[in-house]
Amino acid sequence: MTETAKFGPRAVDRRSVVLAAAGGLAMVAAPRIARGARPRVVVVGGGWGGLGALRALARSGSAELTLVEPHPAFVSCPLSIHYIVGERPFAEFEHGYAAIDRLGVRRVPEPAVAIDRDRREVVTASGRIGYDFLVLAPGVEYAEEAIAGYAEARTALPVGFRPFEQHGVKALVDRFLAEGGTFLITVPKPPYRCPPAPYERACLIAEQIARRGTKGKVVIADANPKPMPPPIAEPILAAMRSAHGQRIEYLPDHEAKAVDPGKGALDCGIADVPFTHANLVLPMRAPKLLREAGLAERWAAVRLPDFRSRDDDRIWIIGDSAGTPLPKSGHVAFNAGVSVAEAIERRIAGAPEPVPPPTGLPAGICFAAVTHDRAIMINVAAHLVPGEGPKLRFEVDPEPTRESSEAAFVWGRSMWQNMLG
Ligand SMILES: Cc1cc2nc3c(=O)[nH]c(=O)nc-3n(C[C@H](O)[C@H](O)[C@H](O)COP(=O)(O)OP(=O)(O)OC[C@H]3O[C@@H](n4cnc5c(N)ncnc54)[C@H](O)[C@@H]3O)c2cc1C
Repeated sequence: MTETAKFGPRAVDRRSVVLAAAGGLAMVAAPRIARGARPRVVVVGGGWGGLGALRALARSGSAELTLVEPHPAFVSCPLSIHYIVGERPFAEFEHGYAAIDRLGVRRVPEPAVAIDRDRREVVTASGRIGYDFLVLAPGVEYAEEAIAGYAEARTALPVGFRPFEQHGVKALVDRFLAEGGTFLITVPKPPYRCPPAPYERACLIAEQIARRGTKGKVVIADANPKPMPPPIAEPILAAMRSAHGQRIEYLPDHEAKAVDPGKGALDCGIADVPFTHANLVLPMRAPKLLREAGLAERWAAVRLPDFRSRDDDRIWIIGDSAGTPLPKSGHVAFNAGVSVAEAIERRIAGAPEPVPPPTGLPAGICFAAVTHDRAIMINVAAHLVPGEGPKLRFEVDPEPTRESSEAAFVWGRSMWQNMLG
């Protein structure tokens, strides 16, 4: 069950909240273990989750670490909307892996194409990497088949909900702002990555419509009856109305079924929605790497609180690939990485599992920008209730504030520093 609480702008010092949350992670020290024959830990995916695990594991030096990540640099999805609408440079959101290299982590710049669980090896195009323990954090894959016609038009319809796709979405938004028309954004049913993000995208594009005098509007075709997650529905709807008025049209219960980019039409079952430019946020799932390894159906099956695979005792799966009720957020992913590192350290040390098992779960912080300088801050606290499962408690700004917008950047910079500084 989800409980909801709200706090007003003065009830919290946002700067302290985000610094405590982000900075606190850097202080989490894994137990030190004497060096000997070091077990091999392989991390697949150098995003929020993978870097959380790597940084914490590297601190103790108890394992030989390998990162399998095809991209030469990390790119942040959080806050990247400010790049997409032309408010901030891309360089602010891209951070190289030099800090990881300096820690002595072996970096394999290729995608993992398979997990050979019998031989305990990660397979890439150029070879096999043996592991004793494996951390999987490859993020999400889009379920393209959910919207008929999407796969054929993929190049013209960038989603921009994975790192490295922001340039395509920016080009689409630039075209719309220059040409005018109807910019369509679809929202899938949850679970999907960062539920407030489609509404944030709509708001910041609507702000640019006003600033640049574009003749057009943004239409949100939402598969849900209200903006997701439920605790942000009222603040987001109110903020869209007051900040952007007629520049955003919100269509609830409009689930995308098929798209015809040539005709400029989205079929939502109950109605066709016309568009000139479209950003379809597709339903998501764990990448096929995990599904083909027998570790996931739609999402990876993990135990809480330690994110160990239900199917393999030597594998931990963190970040958005994991099937848990926790929000699919970078903050949760990073925190989960830190706690998985502690679990692996315990295994390496031969320490017993804690009894009773801990009930703490990673917390989430998320920001939904409503204009370039106002945002709604969303805090999610989570814990396990024995015999019942995870409980989540949301704290949501009742309205967007400048303080939350500033806090978003304080948080982002602290997290990037924790990961790659
Ligand atoms: C627009 C937007 C705004 C957001 N805002 C917030 C926010 O305010 N706060 C928040 O906490 N979260 C936010 N998020 C969510 C956050 O970005 C994700 O939850 C986070 O990225 C999840 O981390 P991850 O490690 O699971 O995946 P990712 O960060 O996506 O990292 C996955 C990594 O795995 C690599 N990879 C993929 N496949 C393979 C393979 N086969 N082999 C090797 N490597 C592979 C990828 O290259 C990538 O580097 C936002 C997301 C979006 C899209």
